[in-house]
Amino acid sequence: MSNDHRPPHTTNDAGIPIASDEHSLTVGPDGPILLQDHYLIQKMAQFNRERVPERVVHAKGSGAFGYFEVTADVSQWTKAAFLNTVGKRTPVVARFSTVAGEQGSADTVRDPRGFAVKFYTEEGNYDLVGNNTPIFFVRDPPKFSDFIHSQKRMGDTGMRSNNAQWDFWSLAPESLHQVAFLMSDRGTPRTYRHMNGYGSHTFMWVNAGGERFWVKYHFKTEQGIENFTDSEAAEMAKQDPDFHRRDLRESIANGDFPVWRLEMQIMPFEEAAAYRFNPFDLTKVWPHSDYPGITIGRLVLDRNPANFFAEIEQASFEPANMVPGIGPSPDKMLLGRLFSYPDAHRYRIGTNYLQLPVNRPQSPVHSYSQDGSMRYEHHGAQPVYAPNSYHGPQAAPEYAAEPTWSADGEFVRSAYSLHAEDDDFGQAGTLFRKTLSATDREHLISNIVGHMSQGVERHIQERAVALWHKVDANLGAGIARGIGLSGEAAPSGHNGTSGKRAKK
Ligand code: NDP
Repeated sequence: MSNDHRPPHTTNDAGIPIASDEHSLTVGPDGPILLQDHYLIQKMAQFNRERVPERVVHAKGSGAFGYFEVTADVSQWTKAAFLNTVGKRTPVVARFSTVAGEQGSADTVRDPRGFAVKFYTEEGNYDLVGNNTPIFFVRDPPKFSDFIHSQKRMGDTGMRSNNAQWDFWSLAPESLHQVAFLMSDRGTPRTYRHMNGYGSHTFMWVNAGGERFWVKYHFKTEQGIENFTDSEAAEMAKQDPDFHRRDLRESIANGDFPVWRLEMQIMPFEEAAAYRFNPFDLTKVWPHSDYPGITIGRLVLDRNPANFFAEIEQASFEPANMVPGIGPSPDKMLLGRLFSYPDAHRYRIGTNYLQLPVNRPQSPVHSYSQDGSMRYEHHGAQPVYAPNSYHGPQAAPEYAAEPTWSADGEFVRSAYSLHAEDDDFGQAGTLFRKTLSATDREHLISNIVGHMSQGVERHIQERAVALWHKVDANLGAGIARGIGLSGEAAPSGHNGTSGKRAKK
C-alpha cells in the first residue's frame, strides 16, 4: 500500500490487480465478450449470491456492539464467570428487530420487537434471545409455526391478513396476554432505545455450591419507555421506514450510548412446584410483588457495526448458548428454541456460522467438530476423535455439568400441570385494570377496534370479543361497541372454554 493518498489498485477477490473498473474484455470495441474475462464473471456471479435467505421471523433488524458491566455480587445465585466480579465488563453484540415484516419493511409497524444479546464471555458465547415483552403468544412449540403463518403473508393472496391473525388468536386464548401488550402502545415503541428487553423465558442459575434458582431477565431502558401512538407509528412508517435503524446508528455515532439496567427476578428452586402460577409458562409473568427485580448490571451499546451485512445480518443468536452456571428450565418454548435457532443458522448462513467474526467466541474453541462448507478455523493436528491417547481435549464433568432438574411420568401430549391460579385471562386482566393508565386503556381499545375492523369476519370478531370479555368486562364491552357488535358479546363464546384452563 502506498503512503500517498491515492486509492489502492482494484483487485479481484483472489487479490489479483484488474485492468478496468468499467469495461469488459471484448473482441474489438463492439465485439463479443470473452469467456476469459474472469473478473467480469466473478463480479456477476458474486452479485447473484449477495443475499443469504432472510430470517423467516425477525428479518428486519438493527444492531450494535458494546459491553455488559456487573454492578452487584451475584455469586450467591450463579457461578457464571462473566458475572463473578463487580465491575467486570464483557463485550456484547445486540440485535433488535421486528418480527413479521421482511427485510425492507417499516420499523415502526405494530409488532413485538426482538431483543437479542450475545455476551462474548471467557467461558464461551452466552446468548439471551428475548423480546421487548416479558411473555409470548403460545406456550408449546408445535404452535409456533402456525402462529407465525397466521401473522405473515397468506398462501393464496401473498398478503397479510388481519382475519387470519384474529382467527388464530381467538382460537388460542393463551395468546391474549401478549396480544394485549401488542395492541397497547408498547406495540409501537418510539425507538429501539426506548423499550425494555426481557429474556422472557424462565432460566436456571446455579451457584458454585450447586444450589439452583429459577430466574427471569429484565433489561430496563435508562432512556425511559417511549411509544408512538398508532397513528404516529403509521405516519413514521411512511416518512422513514428505517427510522429505528437510523435512530440507533445516529445515537451511537453521536456518543449518546443507549443503556439498559439488568434486573433479575430470582425464585428459589423449590418454590416453583407450589407457586400460584406455573412459573415456566411463557404466557405469564412473575408478579413483582412475589419476586421483585434485583439490579445486577448494565448493558451499554457504544459501537456501530462497520459492515451491516457481515456483523448484523450474519449475527446468529441461539438460546442454546448457555455458559456454566446458567441453564434452561422446563419452559417448553425455550426447550423448542434450543433446537430451532441453531438449525435456522445452519440453513441460513451455513454449517460453520460460528466461525464468522461476529459469531465466533472470544474464548478458545476445542471441539471435535471438523470440516463442512467454508470452514476457516481448524484444529491442525489435534486428534479427530475422543477418547484418544494423543492429548486431545477432555471434557470437564464437574466444572461444566449441565444444570438439571428431575422429571418422571408417562409420555403425554398435554398442557402443563395446573397451578392454583393458572388461567389464560387473569394476568391480561391485571394488565388492563391495574397496570395501564386510563389513556393506555383507551388506546388499547381503539387499537384493537381499528385492527379488528380491517377485513375480520363477523364470527371471528364475535369469538374474539367473547374472549376479551373474559379478560375484563369493560375491555370486552369497549371493543364490542367499537366494532359495532350489538349488545355485548356473550362472555361464554369460545368453544365452551372456561376462564380456568382445563386440565387435559
Ligand atoms: P407491578 O405493578 O408490580 O408491575 C407492573 C409492571 O408492568 C411494571 O413494573 C412495568 O414493568 C410494566 N408496565 C408499566 N406500564 C406498562 C404498560 N403500559 N404496558 C405494559 N407493561 C407496563 O404488577 P405485576 O408484577 O403484578 O404485573 C401486573 C401486570 O403488569 C402483569 O399481569 C403484566 O401484564 C404486566 N407486566 C408485568 C411484568 C412483570 O414482570 N411482573 C413486566 C411487564 C408488564 P416494566 O418496567 O418491565 O415495563
